[in-house]
Amino acid sequence: MPKKFAELIRLDYSNEKYLNDISASEYYGFPLQPIIDAEQVLLSMDKKSAAYFSMEYGLAPSVYHTFKTANPINKNNVLSEHEVFSNMKDMDYYHVLPVKKILDLPIYSGGLGVLAGDTLKSTADLQLSLAAIGILWNKGYFHQKFWFKAGGQVPEALAWDPNSYPGLVPLKPKVNITLSGQKLYLRLWKYYVYSNNLKHALPLILLDANLPENPEFFRDLTDQLYKSTNNWIKIAQRMILGIGGIKALEALGYSINQYHLNEGHAALAITEKAKKEPIEELKKIFAFTCHTPVEAGHDRFDLQELEAALEKENTEIVKKFGRDERHPHIANFTMLALNTCEKVNGVAQKHGEVMRLQFPKYQEQIKSITNGVHTFTWISQPIRELLHKYKPQIGDFENDPTLLKNVQNLKSNIKFREDLWSAHLQNKKGLSEFLKFWFFHEKVFTLAWARRLALYKRPGMLLQDVNRLLDIAQKVGPLQIIIAGKAHPADTPASLHMDEILEKITTLSGERKFIRICFLENYDTYFAKILTSSVDVWLNNPLPPFEASGTSGMKAIVNGVVQFSTLDGWVVEAADKNIGKIFGYVPKPNEIGGENNLRLEEDAQELYKGLEELALQYYLTLVGKQTITESQWIDMMVNCISESGYFNTHRMVAEYNTNIWGL
Ligand SMILES: *Cc1c(COP(=O)(O)O)cnc(C)c1O
Repeated sequence: MPKKFAELIRLDYSNEKYLNDISASEYYGFPLQPIIDAEQVLLSMDKKSAAYFSMEYGLAPSVYHTFKTANPINKNNVLSEHEVFSNMKDMDYYHVLPVKKILDLPIYSGGLGVLAGDTLKSTADLQLSLAAIGILWNKGYFHQKFWFKAGGQVPEALAWDPNSYPGLVPLKPKVNITLSGQKLYLRLWKYYVYSNNLKHALPLILLDANLPENPEFFRDLTDQLYKSTNNWIKIAQRMILGIGGIKALEALGYSINQYHLNEGHAALAITEKAKKEPIEELKKIFAFTCHTPVEAGHDRFDLQELEAALEKENTEIVKKFGRDERHPHIANFTMLALNTCEKVNGVAQKHGEVMRLQFPKYQEQIKSITNGVHTFTWISQPIRELLHKYKPQIGDFENDPTLLKNVQNLKSNIKFREDLWSAHLQNKKGLSEFLKFWFFHEKVFTLAWARRLALYKRPGMLLQDVNRLLDIAQKVGPLQIIIAGKAHPADTPASLHMDEILEKITTLSGERKFIRICFLENYDTYFAKILTSSVDVWLNNPLPPFEASGTSGMKAIVNGVVQFSTLDGWVVEAADKNIGKIFGYVPKPNEIGGENNLRLEEDAQELYKGLEELALQYYLTLVGKQTITESQWIDMMVNCISESGYFNTHRMVAEYNTNIWGL
């Protein structure tokens, strides 16, 4: 059986070790049958299937559906110690965060990848047939090390081992593309994404240039995600995803009815399909989701450089459909996708509006489908158990997370309010245990800011005026603050920002009685789950309207974590739902925005004002005299969970299917 199964999934079992984890009924400890079913539907001409292309995927197997393996796991695939930079510096030299978990498949950098991963999980939950295309990043994104002496980040290459990563298997078929006139061979890998109930699965195909038959300078094209050393590498990576992706689907014999480009990176896919089919027909089956509201975020390349890398036929299509209107010598992948995909969407209502302002000619075409998160990945155990207990009132949310809106009906249930608070305290206790060397305590007001350190997200705003922060803590009660995030190594302003944050933390060194502040090294999906579920307040302060959607706050609301946010991205759609506090700059209706004025000063003032109010409310009603049953804080927590009935990928994927895929 395993060999017959291996033939079906096209596994390369020349290395027998891959068969150790596959039995007649199990695949790495998970049921085998869903894979057989999924493959058969993808191969069938009479059933409808979609293909989804994304540069990155964050699947978080350390916290959800962890595969089991009989083979030894390479120590490089284990997440071990992490450093912490705090204002209790002596602690930092003696203690590290002990983590003993499988390293999350390191093929993502942040929110875009996690969204793609969550999308696959909900697609499997909804039993839709889809094959995902991505790249096997041999050195991941990067490993963030702190440089204690200089107070900054040192990006290190990540050494992980794809050959022994549980659930990841090499395939027999290989594909090749022509890059700058030479053949580039690509190995294909497969990883399966299971539904929550383990009854369905779908394959993620990963392309890999690290093959001995390739010349040395081709082999590292798939080493690092968003490596930006030069444009040729960037173009080659986009060719691998788009052109290699189409060839991979063909090599596997999948019958695809709909192609979905998650961001413009994969736009070259259509140039490959256009070799055999007329563009007018292809337009109907290609869809494009844009994630960037920042002008500079769109992929742009010099046409000459593209011409040198691509085959002639592909270049012709780019020239015809992908020219930047204002710069005819430049190809713009967003334009290419807008001109060749009939269905186009932004990732929140507000983002759709901003896109329509940026691309007025495409106003009719651009729709909005608001992002979500995969509920079962991000819900913590205590909250899940709590909601399970109230299932008669909520409904079968484990099959349909949109039913979480019914948590609203429990708002006046005193027992539920108490149970919710104790589930939250249980999460906070876990966090305090995790940070025990830094003396974190579950009774103390705790806030987190964690995401990619991009300038428009304004990572340092909370520390803009440390004296004001200290003043609040002395007046209202102690504050515990956790910060985490990586700055892209080539993003010098963001790296400098990071240095500044660490310096500011140092200035609070004598103040640990009032403020405990930790910056966690190497933020990833594992930390994301801990933080989004266990703090009291989730801080999100991008400069509006720059945040296309933002998703970390959605992970937090599933867990009843109160939002403290500027009015941007998904938050605009929940602004009247009392899920926390909204502050800061509000852009004019037709404003696209400019990054040259980050409005740090003004918005920081509002941040401190709001923080003081939140901390006061926390201390007065939750640890003060009043009982938690009366606290409006609990109302906000209930509203958060109830809103998570909307901001999930179950609802989002259903919308994609109704409006775009039609599966
Ligand atoms: C969810 C997530 C993000 C996205 O954060 P935003 O608030 O949307 O910017 C980034 N990084 C990791 C590791 C995540 O899990």
